[in-house]
Amino acid sequence: MNRCWTYFFIWISFFGFHLVFGQIRNRSPIIIIDPGHGGKDSGAVGVNGLKEKDVTLNIAMEILRLNKELLADTLEIYSTRYSDTLISLSHRTKLAQVLKGNIFVSLHCNQTSLAAVQGVEVYTSQFNKHGEFLGNILLSEFNQTLGHKSRGVKYGNFQVLRETDSCPSVLWEMVHFDRLIHLPTEAEWERAAQSDHSGTVYFWGDDASELSTKANTWEGEFPVTNTEADGYGERGPVKSYPPNDFGLYDMAGNVWEWTDDWYNTDYYNEVADRNTILKNPKGADAPYNARNPYAKEKVMKGGSFLCNASYCASYRISAPMATSLDSSLEHLGFRTVATADMVKKGSSSSGQ
Ligand SMILES: [Zn+2]
Repeated sequence: MNRCWTYFFIWISFFGFHLVFGQIRNRSPIIIIDPGHGGKDSGAVGVNGLKEKDVTLNIAMEILRLNKELLADTLEIYSTRYSDTLISLSHRTKLAQVLKGNIFVSLHCNQTSLAAVQGVEVYTSQFNKHGEFLGNILLSEFNQTLGHKSRGVKYGNFQVLRETDSCPSVLWEMVHFDRLIHLPTEAEWERAAQSDHSGTVYFWGDDASELSTKANTWEGEFPVTNTEADGYGERGPVKSYPPNDFGLYDMAGNVWEWTDDWYNTDYYNEVADRNTILKNPKGADAPYNARNPYAKEKVMKGGSFLCNASYCASYRISAPMATSLDSSLEHLGFRTVATADMVKKGSSSSGQ
């Protein structure tokens, strides 16, 4: 949720602006934030299980926290929910009416499968000109601060807008989190590497003598001498070696590849203890590395030009390694995944 921080500071700057353009008054403006969905209503669900109801609630709670910690509660902000509960739409708008809110912002996330429709959009009631103004400020801030493409202010006949149009009220589709592509899970990565070779050590089979014709690794005495028998001493261009049976290049050696899974040294044992077959597992719930217990690390796969048979031999399909989230390495890269379903779907649907 690191990106949320950015949203909040946009909010803070926006509110500062609004104090100028909005109602001049002796008391603070009353701001109603409405985190969409909640409880049994998850809203949109991202490819890796991210739920819209959690994203919106987290952002709302961070806005409250920042108002308290940075602005000493200067702004009078209320949320329509403070926990993972489902509040009816009429109760949300009733709160805004009772509190006589000066701004009402309903937080949502859009869902899409097409890169072409990425961007941020804001809805307002057709008759709420202040809402339109507010929406344009939000979009402009997002564009300038985060570079998010604006999809414009749109009119929406939503209940939360209809019943709050006595003040500037908007429904803000903050982010699309079903993207066309995502980082593979470790399981997805291994399946892609394995292709038609079920259970083999390497993507081409079990014959280690083929290594220099299949992948860019460290050949010779590690780490003293690299014979460059495979043609490269360091990184090589992609597609320098033959693809696997799925037509995927560089599934071994050259550069490591990020996956979306937490690196957790207990995870495989926990899975084995469950004694069940996992279908399309998403990895551990939390990071834990017994050798580096305070780090938050992700699994990386595939090995690199620095991998040697005498050391980690991580060009094996099954080999995982850990890298902390804030690391950048000369031998680490990534590839992305689009699920067949996402490609097939091929259209945008609102998460509202
Ligand atoms: Zn929504």
